[in-house]
Amino acid sequence: MLQGLPTASAPPILLRLSDELYAHWRTIEEEFHALAGVRSSFIAFMCLSLWSTWLPFLEAWDDKWAHVYRRDRHRCQNPVCTRHDATPHHIVFRAHGGGDEAENMVTLCSWCHLESVHRGRIRVEGTARALSWRLGRRPTLEVQERTRLN
Ligand SMILES: [Zn+2]
Repeated sequence: MLQGLPTASAPPILLRLSDELYAHWRTIEEEFHALAGVRSSFIAFMCLSLWSTWLPFLEAWDDKWAHVYRRDRHRCQNPVCTRHDATPHHIVFRAHGGGDEAENMVTLCSWCHLESVHRGRIRVEGTARALSWRLGRRPTLEVQERTRLN
């Protein structure tokens, strides 16, 4: 079992690994220590690298969609969801020619976005002002804007 370095304000991170994976992990850490010349945790290095790489992108990303999030009140627009972890969704997928204009964008939570819409459990069509929702692979609920149709 690996254990991260606890701080005064954060609990330690515990990972359960098989013996084989743990041995592999130790090999990677030893190589990291030899190459980097430091004794800090490889997972701390990975977290800091991930953070420093993606933070500028995430800050620009939030700015890019701020007007969409504001319009949608930072709330998932799925009519049966109340989550607030906002992600931008292209109503007409970019792969199908959809653009970044506000009318083609809707705020969804990460679960509705990735697990529902992009896995075919929910269909959303129309424009941001007049959304149509079909919930379920074989729709059990259809909603036009905020009106339930069935
Ligand atoms: Zn949602």
